Amino acid sequence: MLDIDRLRADFPILDERAHDQPLIYFDNAATTQKPRAVIEAQSQYYRHSNANVHRASHYLSSRATEAFEQARHNVARFIGAASPREIIWTRGATEAINLVAHSYGRSQLGSGDLILVSTLEHHANIVPWQLLAEQVGARIEAIPLLDDGSLDPIAYRQLLQQNPRLVALTHASNALGTLNPVAEMTRAAQGVGAKVLIDGAQSTPHLAIDVQALGCDFFVFSGHKVFGPTGIGALWARESLLEAMPPWQAGGEMIEHVSFASTRFAGLPFKFEAGTPNIAGVIGLNAAIGYLQQLDRQAIEAHEMQLLNRALALCSEIPGFRPVGQAAQRVSLMSFCIDGLHQQDIGLMLDQHGIAVRAGHHCAMPLMQRLGLPGTLRASFAFYNTLEEVERFAAVLGQIVREQT
Ligand code: PLP
Repeated sequence: MLDIDRLRADFPILDERAHDQPLIYFDNAATTQKPRAVIEAQSQYYRHSNANVHRASHYLSSRATEAFEQARHNVARFIGAASPREIIWTRGATEAINLVAHSYGRSQLGSGDLILVSTLEHHANIVPWQLLAEQVGARIEAIPLLDDGSLDPIAYRQLLQQNPRLVALTHASNALGTLNPVAEMTRAAQGVGAKVLIDGAQSTPHLAIDVQALGCDFFVFSGHKVFGPTGIGALWARESLLEAMPPWQAGGEMIEHVSFASTRFAGLPFKFEAGTPNIAGVIGLNAAIGYLQQLDRQAIEAHEMQLLNRALALCSEIPGFRPVGQAAQRVSLMSFCIDGLHQQDIGLMLDQHGIAVRAGHHCAMPLMQRLGLPGTLRASFAFYNTLEEVERFAAVLGQIVREQT
């Protein structure tokens, strides 16, 4: 059994009030809150170890470098990577996808090559491929969506017959919560010779990740969505693939030798990490995954699904409530509309009651176009949310709807 009250005590922000009401934070898909362990780790780093890394001619620099590289080991273990050399620090999932598009994409894709994405993608997993396609003359197709919010498996198989070179897929949808069968989809794509990138921004906070079991070629995630700091994330890819990829950004740290005649690049993972990295971010991310790893992830998953099911059951009693996306496999996120009311208005009214949800297109405009909606409301849950919060949310939402209709 999870002791939610004890876990909540680890997150100081959950004691905040918003508009003079107890804060109910249901915007976890946008960013998660940070446990004391993360806040302290960053503060301790700045108090006791702050120095630049990999320039270890003095004590502080050695200490910072050790913590920085230990974090890489821990993140490698956290997602099942074979080696820390396969972990590249980035600013987040967005930058990790851009890295792959620039480095792998520009060197390996060419005129007429097909890149497959899905209708469920966040803009971060669409626009970098569009820029790449413009640069190299590649083309993009999107795997269509079924009405329940899952991807159409038959259409996917048909698209694979066009032999895409790259398939870029979200593991979990930030807008609908749909959990894609990415291991199976990856095997099918690799069967026709495609490389597969999995966007794990929304799955990593909810599920234990094992990149070996997923079988993908690239996996990306963001620290701030797994209870870590903003401005840090990672790209994982197999060492052989990363070795074959050219650098994308250039500067200090990523070189072994520079002269005006020529430059020799550093080995992995530094080849992809130009400039001074987000050292405090890495330290904070390390603390976040350390925090997650000591929790019972199965119990967390069960609790989060209980929150979702309770929210759906209570809200379905509200007149005009329409859930959007009902895929059988989902993470703990409820996207919905209220007939006759604008989602932004409801979002603002919920905020007046201290309840934070997201209203809008959720950076998934092509998905909203497919659904024929300008946007939805999204309540996204984390393990520190409680059934009592869900009940209060449903009661307040019901009251708002009654008052407005
Ligand atoms: N992919 C998905 C599915 C997301 O939900 C997000 C953020 O909301 C991103 C990518 C981009 O993540 P970041 O802004 O942390 O780079």
